[in-house]
Amino acid sequence: MQNRTYTADAEPGDTVTVAGWVHEIRDLGGIAFLIVRDTTGKIQVKFEKDDMDEDLVETGLGVNRESVVEITGDVKEEPRAPTDVEIVPTDVDVIAEAEPELPLDPSGKVDADLSTRLDNRTLDARKDDVEAVFKIRAEVLRAVRETFRDLGCSEINTPKIVATGTEGGTELFPITYFGEEAFMNQSPQLFKQLMVGSGLERVFEIGPIFRAEEHNTPRHLNEATSIDFESAFYDHHEAMDACEAVVTAAYEAVAENCGDELDALDIDFEVPEGDFPRLTYEEAIERINATGELDEMLVWGDDLPTEGEKALGEDVGTHYFITDWPSEIKPFYIMDQDDEELSTGFDMMHPRMELVSGGQREHRYDRLVEGFEQQGLDPEAFDYYTKMFKYGMPPHAGWGLGGERLIMTMLGLDNIREAVLFPRDRQRLSP
Ligand code: ATP
Ligand code: MG
Repeated sequence: MQNRTYTADAEPGDTVTVAGWVHEIRDLGGIAFLIVRDTTGKIQVKFEKDDMDEDLVETGLGVNRESVVEITGDVKEEPRAPTDVEIVPTDVDVIAEAEPELPLDPSGKVDADLSTRLDNRTLDARKDDVEAVFKIRAEVLRAVRETFRDLGCSEINTPKIVATGTEGGTELFPITYFGEEAFMNQSPQLFKQLMVGSGLERVFEIGPIFRAEEHNTPRHLNEATSIDFESAFYDHHEAMDACEAVVTAAYEAVAENCGDELDALDIDFEVPEGDFPRLTYEEAIERINATGELDEMLVWGDDLPTEGEKALGEDVGTHYFITDWPSEIKPFYIMDQDDEELSTGFDMMHPRMELVSGGQREHRYDRLVEGFEQQGLDPEAFDYYTKMFKYGMPPHAGWGLGGERLIMTMLGLDNIREAVLFPRDRQRLSP
């Protein structure tokens, strides 16, 4: 639209045309106000009934809330207006009338349950706090991309339709691919690894992963956004450094560029300070046991149960890594340490939950093929992958970060569905 002025840019003395949604209609008798909302904010439009053209007043005040309007007029200083300015209109156009009954109230005065909100996400995301989450999400992705670029990475895009899964069969979504069974990819793991052996060496991908998680939980989606990193000639320590840099940069960018959005969310927001502590798995289980929160003591080789992660998170109180996991509970493509009991795998945790899994990868062909067999996977089916390890595959390391979990924990959201526009879960396949 030509000559459109955003509400936030309207200055006293200007003649402007603003376009947006009717947020509120306040009729005080002789005088009435429309509050018009656009992506930058809201502005008051004043109608003085006795002094203004009758048709203009009728059009302006006869409109339903949430209709799209275009308003031309003079901007005046008005200390009593919410933004200290108001528009005295000369022209009001109703561009798209909204029905009088709305499925939810975008002004946020009346709460709607999550399911109603997700069914009507367009209206839901007209609310300041919801809009703020998605503006922050966009800023996080921008900052993450920029940090990856500073780290010397190339952005890649890999297939989401695959012949075989990486992490075993249970979490795979099967599809029909020209009459043959195929699957939605659970992770770009194998593809990003293949690319560290290419001329690119250091890569990242931001894309969807698909997991047929059986249960609805507040931190699992069936389609999530994975932020993946992989680098040739990196070990797991260097991969953790990169992870810390990316996550910290995301927080810093939000602190610097999303002040209004953080205000709209009204949350305590703190950029993580300094290095994330690195605890070994052994220390982690000792500290969990010491909290006394678990009914049964953890022993070496146990995976950390959700309550254990929570207890440890409260104890540590910041982002932290868990390193030196027993090899037997990390995936086969993770490299062992010299002491083969221990893997190079790591998790990066927010006090509330796991955000990242990573490690150095097995790049030695014979060991890799052995790993597939031990995992009960047919190495033949992964020949496209393993054979590249015969032609010069450098040592390499990397990680995968759950994009929605990053946003959820950053903004203190209760449910991961708040961090994705159109969530996919056991009950939800549309919109
Ligand atoms: P969890 O044990 O918490 O289910 P995971 O260990 O199975 O996660 P990984 O395979 O390690 O997950 O994936 C790397 C990261 O991707 C996780 O740390 C998490 O942030 C994110 N992630 C994995 N699965 C999901 C999911 N179903 N929904 C949202 N994020 C996910
Ligand atoms: Mg994991």
